[in-house]
Amino acid sequence: MNSNEKVCRAYFEEIEVVVTKEGERQRVLKWRCKCGNIRMKGNGWSNLFDHIKAMHPKYREELHIDSPATDGNKNIETFLTHVSLKARNIHSWMQWVVNKNKPLTFVEEPDTRTFSNLEPICRKTLSSYMEQVINGAYFYACQNST
Ligand SMILES: [Zn+2]
Repeated sequence: MNSNEKVCRAYFEEIEVVVTKEGERQRVLKWRCKCGNIRMKGNGWSNLFDHIKAMHPKYREELHIDSPATDGNKNIETFLTHVSLKARNIHSWMQWVVNKNKPLTFVEEPDTRTFSNLEPICRKTLSSYMEQVINGAYFYACQNST
């Protein structure tokens, strides 16, 4: 469970709503916040999380989530809530390819694109970002070695 999901589940509960659509009664799953706001959830958690950020800006304090500055960056998920969507997307692709030992072409395969909810990326772009991470890690290691 990623940290956005944890936060969303702390505020929202899934509810079943009966709606009448084109004269037919249908059951629809929606999510209700502690404050009463009812929202639809898409593939991810961003719609619910946007509400929390806007209407419950002190959610970190309320849920006792440590900020990255105080937990020594031990929790990468906490850190990732502070980075851009683009950076998070690239990080997710890297994590997937590296952890599952996939070839870079994996990100361009039709099945991968069909079944992933990540923003599409091409292998050249991913490869370029991986090089930047390697260079950054090398630079960091050189600076911190004695
Ligand atoms: Zn709310």
